[in-house]
Amino acid sequence: MTKIYKAHILFTKEQRRFEVFENGYIAVDDNGLVLGVASRLEALTGDGTPYELVDFGNRLLIPAMNDMHVHAPQVHNQGVAMDLELLPWLQNYTFPEESKYADIRYAERMYRRFLHTQWLFGTMRSVVFGTVHTESTRLLMQLYQEAGMGAMVGKVAMNRNCPEALSEDVEAAVEGNERLIAEFGQPDALVRPIITPRFVPSCTPELLNACGELANRYGLPVQSHLSENTSEIAWVAELEKESTSYGDAYNRYGLFGQTPTIMAHCVWTNGSELELMKRNRVMVAHCPTSNFNLSSGLAPVRTFLDEGLPIGLGSDISGGHDLNMFRMLVYAIQVSKMQYQQDHAKAFLTLPEIFWIATKSAGSFFGKVGSFEPGYEFDALVIDDTVLHPDEYSLLHRLERFIYLGDDRQIEHRFCRGKEVAEPKMM
Ligand SMILES: [Zn+2]
Repeated sequence: MTKIYKAHILFTKEQRRFEVFENGYIAVDDNGLVLGVASRLEALTGDGTPYELVDFGNRLLIPAMNDMHVHAPQVHNQGVAMDLELLPWLQNYTFPEESKYADIRYAERMYRRFLHTQWLFGTMRSVVFGTVHTESTRLLMQLYQEAGMGAMVGKVAMNRNCPEALSEDVEAAVEGNERLIAEFGQPDALVRPIITPRFVPSCTPELLNACGELANRYGLPVQSHLSENTSEIAWVAELEKESTSYGDAYNRYGLFGQTPTIMAHCVWTNGSELELMKRNRVMVAHCPTSNFNLSSGLAPVRTFLDEGLPIGLGSDISGGHDLNMFRMLVYAIQVSKMQYQQDHAKAFLTLPEIFWIATKSAGSFFGKVGSFEPGYEFDALVIDDTVLHPDEYSLLHRLERFIYLGDDRQIEHRFCRGKEVAEPKMM
């Protein structure tokens, strides 16, 4: 039966302003799709279709969060070793931790912890790196399915410049991916595989080629890292001498927009790499906390917006330290303000802009996700901000205060594709 939810409804259909429905109504059909939003109930019930009304009273109802770049197997390293740059940090912390995921029981304990934290903070869709291990990655996908949360999950491809335990030959990488594709490859599934070369320095040309072929053969999306750190970029230039830019290296292997592609960081992206991203509609996953923690730099988000590049936000744990995506909105605004200090021609991000980036813009990678317009999948959070003295503020300021000051304790209900998502089990 159609569900109609009553609450204060806020979302960003457009980049520069919120749609606000004080004591509004939103109708959701059996398939979890939004039928409409209105200020009056009659506007949604005119055709006589039976419905069930759920009244959330004085609470806020907003689109759920999307984490567009995150390493699930780094959950144990969250908030650890925040005093290193990218390359030594990978060698000393990231790779040793990922090696532990050969043990499926360790993987289950950590992946359940990871999903539980995402659930707490209202992240209902994610673009996720697993590890090189097929069985652990399969388990992560099953856990997302079990939880009812949406995700594109990648079995990581890597076969050079990494410990032996994390290196997999090309044939095994293809075979492992194909097993996951056979099991999870349905195009409209909530949990799907994504082709995931770790980054150029971790993959031989043969492996990059195989990844590109997999993506194109099965019509699967691609994720990786791009232009995060200056020493990394110099290393890629050395490894891929024929490429005109780091992005061009992916492009030459069919991993840069030939199928829907998302690239994390893009801190140093400009010139021909930026043009190529625009041409190929490659999405940027902006990860402000990670860029701070690893001293990578300030990604030029205003430039990306001006150029019309698709963009979303990522927590990137454990380069990033925080799985709370609302906090990521705040950090992204702060990064843009530091850039504005350096160049007043680059206006800093406003709240509606960053909310739009985190919801509707990011959500477009999953289809119609991140807005409450008709036909969008109902991914939503119900916020009880009683502890934040709501009576003294406008609805927009209530939302802003929740984003800046709130945490998981104010998130009372979570919906993904129309279904309420219960608290996932830990072990
Ligand atoms: Zn990353």
